Amino acid sequence: IIPMKLVVLGEGGVGKSALSCQFIRNHFISEYDPTIENSFREQKTIDGQAYMLEIVDTAGQDEYNAMRDRYIRLGEGARFRLYLFLTSLGFVLVYSITSRVSFEKLDAFHSSIQRVREDDVYPVVLVANKSDLEADREVTTSEGISYSKKVKAAFFETSAKLRMNVDESFMQLVREVVKM
Ligand code: GDP
Ligand code: MG
Repeated sequence: IIPMKLVVLGEGGVGKSALSCQFIRNHFISEYDPTIENSFREQKTIDGQAYMLEIVDTAGQDEYNAMRDRYIRLGEGARFRLYLFLTSLGFVLVYSITSRVSFEKLDAFHSSIQRVREDDVYPVVLVANKSDLEADREVTTSEGISYSKKVKAAFFETSAKLRMNVDESFMQLVREVVKM
């Protein structure tokens, strides 16, 4: 079994918790405390390989920075460096197609990924969520694709509500992490 940590990042309200919960628990949560940082742990078999996935559902940029600081504190010891070496890391970068603000905040989240450990490059999947809300769309598909090319990430338009492209996004990330 390969252990892997997948961190879900993005502006509050874009659907990070809904996506994580759909992927791991197969149900849609319509109301979830936006301040809770949750960690889901689940064994999944992908392409015939068993993984122990830990999905870190972050809550707000400050929360993510707190997590990163925690890592850095722990990182002072050799034991933590060994942990990072043994546990592969990937990121799901989420915005909502109904929120231009969430799209414009991607850069801030993307640069926080690069600060986790300066020398390392981590796989990223860009997820444009709430694609069921077409009437409220504020970000076009081609804008999403351009950004994904800029940050060298795979791109998916998803709906946590309809469970559309949820597995595909996480599975693509797992495949890229395992290739690293
Ligand atoms: P988070 O702050 O990023 O964790 O966002 P949540 O997962 O808590 O979702 C915020 C709100 O958007 C909740 O009311 C969700 O039910 C709703 N939501 C999340 N994903 C979708 C989606 O794909 N479609 C629709 N229509 N609503 C969604
Ligand atoms: Mg949440």
